[in-house]
Amino acid sequence: MALIALGLLSINSMVLAEWSEVKTTSMGTEIVVSLWAQSPAAASVASQAVIAEINRIDQLMSSYRPSSELSAVNKGAAKHPVTISAELYDLIERAGEFSELTSGAFDITYASVGYLYDYREKKYPEKDKISNHLAAVNYHHIQLDAENKTVKFRRAGVRIDLGGIAKGHAVDRSIEILQQAGIKHAMVTAGGDTRVLGDHKGRPWSIAIQDPMQKNNPVAVIPLVDEAISTSGDYERFFDEGGIRYHHIIDPETGDSARKVKSVSIIGPESTTADALSTSLFVMGLDRGMELINSMQGYEAIIVDAENGLKYSNGLQQFK
Ligand code: ADP
Ligand code: MG
Repeated sequence: MALIALGLLSINSMVLAEWSEVKTTSMGTEIVVSLWAQSPAAASVASQAVIAEINRIDQLMSSYRPSSELSAVNKGAAKHPVTISAELYDLIERAGEFSELTSGAFDITYASVGYLYDYREKKYPEKDKISNHLAAVNYHHIQLDAENKTVKFRRAGVRIDLGGIAKGHAVDRSIEILQQAGIKHAMVTAGGDTRVLGDHKGRPWSIAIQDPMQKNNPVAVIPLVDEAISTSGDYERFFDEGGIRYHHIIDPETGDSARKVKSVSIIGPESTTADALSTSLFVMGLDRGMELINSMQGYEAIIVDAENGLKYSNGLQQFK
């Protein structure tokens, strides 16, 4: 009797268990949460927890929200130390580690000139305006005090923006929440940042890498289980003028859009790292970028170079 009851129960939960997909907009981009849960109710609770978490991070870290902690930093840190949450502190600190790793290609103070661009209004700063602001771009201007959890800027004119790393952080936090909820199969996407948990119906998840020149035309499809993938492209936020593309990834050395490659995808265990590295390699270009990624354990890169050539790092040669 007990056995029959058990059998019935498992059939019942199999019937009810299902894939769910929820889409919303947050952090200025599309969020997709796909997961497999025991019941529609469990799926809904888990998806809503993820969306609430991403919204929370957006409210903390958005440079567009005057009420965010990040905006308080940009407003006050040139004048006095600003006390921030442990979470924001840790992410600013990690951003600094990526600056060191990439010799300054990744630099959240890019925003000291980055704010002069408006991709929607097709506005970019003149050369002399860039040079006026460029001295403020340098991660060494950020002074962190671990004990008091404060951040200070060493000079006026410095601004920071976490657009190159915050979505990865949000995706990692989302996966953590799903794991804690007992979810075994899921995919969370925030714009160009995706991380998958487990597999998808017994097979790896297939993640498409977009052709930078043509929407909805994948140049590669990557099978992933328990991994993150982040793509940075010059086709996300941009405008063209006089045959030149102005887009949202800024070379901290020049204050101009980085133009050595067209897209970079990074694959690895963790989304925060993949996000920061995709932006970094976009700035560094093919040779320096591949050299860095090939020196790193667990992370791989797929780069669409300036001539539309598809280039793979050492660990992905089987996709060639
Ligand atoms: P997306 O935001 O399209 O997913 P990325 O992960 O490549 O793309 O991040 C691009 C964002 O990174 C920009 O919108 C900007 O906020 C930020 N950013 C731009 N240049 C740099 C840089 N040199 N270092 C760090 N962050 C940058
Ligand atoms: Mg990035």
